[in-house]
Amino acid sequence: MSARSPAVALALGITVAASLLLGAGCLLPGGGPVSGDAGLLESPPFSELLDTAFRDELPGRLVIYFLATGQSDATYIRTPGGKVVLIDTGDDPSDVVPFLRDRKKVTKIDVLVLTHPHQDHIGGALGILESFDVGALYDPGFESTSPVYAEVLAKALDLVESGRLAYVTGRAGLTVDLGGGAAARLVHPVDPLDNEANNASVVARVTFGSFSALFAGDVEAEAEMEILDRGEDVSATVLKVAHHGSGGSSTGEFLAAVGMDVAVIEVGPNSFGHPSPAAVARLESAGAEVFSTLDGSVIIVHSDGRDWGLLVGQDG
Ligand SMILES: [Zn+2]
Repeated sequence: MSARSPAVALALGITVAASLLLGAGCLLPGGGPVSGDAGLLESPPFSELLDTAFRDELPGRLVIYFLATGQSDATYIRTPGGKVVLIDTGDDPSDVVPFLRDRKKVTKIDVLVLTHPHQDHIGGALGILESFDVGALYDPGFESTSPVYAEVLAKALDLVESGRLAYVTGRAGLTVDLGGGAAARLVHPVDPLDNEANNASVVARVTFGSFSALFAGDVEAEAEMEILDRGEDVSATVLKVAHHGSGGSSTGEFLAAVGMDVAVIEVGPNSFGHPSPAAVARLESAGAEVFSTLDGSVIIVHSDGRDWGLLVGQDG
């Protein structure tokens, strides 16, 4: 995509006014390096939040970090009950292990979700399982010949056998209590799985009070329509956009059902044309303010269960 695209412009540090919540998308020139904030809740300075250990950051709030891990997905969530959730792991352990261990002082990941067995989602998973206690691992159980997935699965089964990990096949309808009033409901997939890994992605809707966030993995149009056909509630304040902003995902019908205020695209430099200008245009016409990690920006959203705040900045 070109440097003139809205996603890049936003990620490049424009301060977004609180009117964003109203969908006005009023943009004010930032002028500084990469930083910005939005939403009705006041946010601490970006670098201060980044350096706060998970136990101490914004107590009682749900905090979501859309990490900049290149052309891959990794989202760290600290729940209001103090639990740690990781949805996908980047494509290499160095994408997430130092951040969680050194910056966030995490020793235990309560819930690890591997949306589907592609390298750009599970590449850091072996390192995660080796570096932290993990309470429960959710994945779609999609059959894969990927050697990376085989390694992850072997390690996970070892841990299961020694009683140190719960392995859960993620299926629509499962709910996970995240403590402090937050919960996750899986809205996808159902059996039988599509024969394409992207469309087998575990899709989770995390709720805290009236705030919600939908994590769409890499689902494509077929899976989006299937989710809608089943009548799942996908409404969300914040959407982790499907498949790195691919044009084959984020259909108008799906986005209308989500009705997000904020859309975040986890993406890095790539040869696939992600994010697709057409997908970005559909997100914007659905009323979303679009942010991306393309330039290395980290996007942080936090909520008290009613209002929310958003920060954009770069690590280091
Ligand atoms: Zn992917």
